[in-house]
Amino acid sequence: MNMLQQVLQPTHDLLVKEGEEANFRWSWWDEGVVCFTPKMAYDCSVVISAGVHGNETAPIELLFKIYDDLMAGRLQLKVGLLLILGNPEAIRQGVRYINYDMNRMFSGAYQNIEACAETERVQKLEQYCLDFYDIAPYTQRYHYDLHTAIREAIFPTFAMLPYQTHAYDPLLLAQLKCADLDALVYHNSVGVTFSHFSMHVCHAHSVTLELGKAKPFGHNHLADFRGIDLLLRAVIAQDTLPLRRKETIKQFAVQQAIIKKTATFQLNLSPDAANFSQFKRGDWVTKSSEQDVMYATENFYILFPNPNVALGLRAGLLLKRIE
Ligand SMILES: [Zn+2]
Repeated sequence: MNMLQQVLQPTHDLLVKEGEEANFRWSWWDEGVVCFTPKMAYDCSVVISAGVHGNETAPIELLFKIYDDLMAGRLQLKVGLLLILGNPEAIRQGVRYINYDMNRMFSGAYQNIEACAETERVQKLEQYCLDFYDIAPYTQRYHYDLHTAIREAIFPTFAMLPYQTHAYDPLLLAQLKCADLDALVYHNSVGVTFSHFSMHVCHAHSVTLELGKAKPFGHNHLADFRGIDLLLRAVIAQDTLPLRRKETIKQFAVQQAIIKKTATFQLNLSPDAANFSQFKRGDWVTKSSEQDVMYATENFYILFPNPNVALGLRAGLLLKRIE
């Protein structure tokens, strides 16, 4: 049964939970969670997740195609592979989340949130990742968490690398360049995202990928996602990486999170400003009150601007360009 049909059906009891093809075994662990294990020895264990935000459909469609191509033998499997659809109920309803944003509750953060279907799902996903990497504990571990952004972006496709104190994996960085991403963003603090969890707790080389703008099912131009699709297929089949076709990837480091401190908080941006909009040195960035104004001390870029968040929450991330 196709992953799409399985997830979108109101009753989703699986008819068949595991099976065997010529070169691999597969088993469904839960709704939207399927594990593939090659019969040959393998060096890499790879988690690919999509739909942690239910309305981010293009990456979900990419996963469906990868699943179908594996099952039909059109894509070779040379790695251990766990495919995850993060939030099946939100995917069915076409919404970002039902009760609470799942990508703000990993690494134990769910304990601070009133119990709901999503807190339960996050705990299960954490355990599935641990179980999966334990199948072949001495293999290289990777995790690609696929998203699309809510707003337009000056650099439409970009990777968010979790904050880590050890070096980033050179192969992962090379892969991201080959995926024709426009930009890499390095976090500067510990997070509660899925990719931070897999990096920190599972010791995987992890990344969150923002692959253009969220659209409803059937309205995506999958050609726009060709770079990441080719990369994921190369990773799964352990083929040579695709060649980069775009100009050099831009790199940014998070400087600070902008926190909304007052009800009169203002951000010096139009409401529909794109991700990576720029503040020139000397521009005012935020006004928390008449006395409390933050100016750009150098050229800054902004990611995920949202002045309408609740008090105390993040209204955006300020970035600095690095080389
Ligand atoms: Zn998302």
